[in-house]
Order: sequence, then structure tokens, then C-alpha cells
Amino acid sequence: MLEELKKLKDLQLLDVQIFEKEEELDSIPEQNEILKEKIGEMEGKLHELRNGIAIQEEEKMKRVEILNKGEDKLKGITGKQSAIRNKEEYGALLREIDNIKRFNRDISDEIKEIEREVEFKNVELKAIEDETVEKIAEYKKKIEENIEKMKTLDETLQKMYLKREEFVEKIRPVVFRKYQRILESSSNGKAIADAENKICLGCNMTLPPELFNMVLRSERIEVCPNCQCILIPCQCKESE
Ligand SMILES: [Zn+2]
Repeated sequence: MLEELKKLKDLQLLDVQIFEKEEELDSIPEQNEILKEKIGEMEGKLHELRNGIAIQEEEKMKRVEILNKGEDKLKGITGKQSAIRNKEEYGALLREIDNIKRFNRDISDEIKEIEREVEFKNVELKAIEDETVEKIAEYKKKIEENIEKMKTLDETLQKMYLKREEFVEKIRPVVFRKYQRILESSSNGKAIADAENKICLGCNMTLPPELFNMVLRSERIEVCPNCQCILIPCQCKESE
């Protein structure tokens, strides 16, 4: 039985490696999702700012058009001065000129206000661009690298699974089935533990003396009552 236990121990070493690679492989899609989410947030913020600026530029252009019309109107009305016949008409004309001038001044103020806001937003946009554009590229690169890593891990695992099959073929089915059952219910990928000085090194529990003696004799498979690992006498390791 000791020979079988040694084989199980080799299998366990391989399975630990497989477990680590599988864990690593499993964690990558989530990492990529997080990166994609961050990229989305940053791109969203940039889009929002650029859009806001574009809308204000449009508003400004509308007002510039209105102002141009207002200035044309002012020119036109000033040209009418020669046609004035009396004081009343003159007064009315002056009032109209005043109104147009006031209107044009208001529009002009609005344009300046929009320009100030756009300038402010451009500064903000530039700051965010400086901060995020590089980061977005970096995250995108990381996602690509992760996809490559997944391919490599998958290939490595396929090779490990083949190697595992070779290992398993050399182990008695009844022994292997027991090992496999424990492995499948284990949360850390471990099904084997060394036993030394009456202690299970898998979980550090002190083993009942009669159980420890059975383990030392290695006549059959014994499991730790606490962590359920198959117990292997420690000299099994030393004799390797
Ligand atoms: Zn244990």
C-alpha cells in the first residue's frame, strides 16, 4: 500500500499545480470584466464632456448668427436717418436703434459667457484626457495580454491533464476513486496530508493513537477525521 500512497502523493503534487493553474485561468475573465468596466466609465466621462462642449459650440453659433442679423439690422436702420421728416420720427428711430443695440449687446454677452464656459470645459477635458487616455490604452493592452495568458494556461492545462491520465493509469482504481472523491469535495485542491508525530500536517489536528499507528502501517487507506485528507506516513516523503 505504501507504493500506492507514494503514487497518490505524486498525483497530488500534479493536482495542486493543476488546481493553481485552473484558479488562475478562472480569475482572468473577471479581471477583464473589471478592466472593461473601468474603460467604459472613463470613455463615458470623456464622451460626456466632449458632447457638452459640442452642444455649447452649437449654441454659440446660433447666437453668432442672430448677432450678425442684429448688426445688419442696425446698419440698415442707421441708413434710414436721411429719410426722417420730423422730430417724432427721429425720436422713434433713436429708440429703435437703442433697442437693437441693447439686444445685440445682450446676445454678445451671452456669446462671451458661452465662450468662457467652453474654455473652462476644455481645460477640464484636457485634464481628464491627460489622466485617462493613457490609462485606457494601458487597460486595453492588459485585456489583450490576459486573453493571450488564457490561451497559454489552457494549453498548459491540456498537457497536464494528459500527464495526469498517465499517472492515474498506474494507480489501482479503487485507490484512485477514493482519492478522486476526496479531491472533488475539497475546497483547496488537496486530498493528501502527511502524518507526523501523531499530527495531521494537513490541518494540524492530533490524530487518535490507533489511527496514527494504522497510518504508519500503511495497510489500507486512512483519512484524517477532521480534514478528510488521505494520511501518508511522513517517512513516505523522506524515503523519496
Ligand atoms: Zn487533517
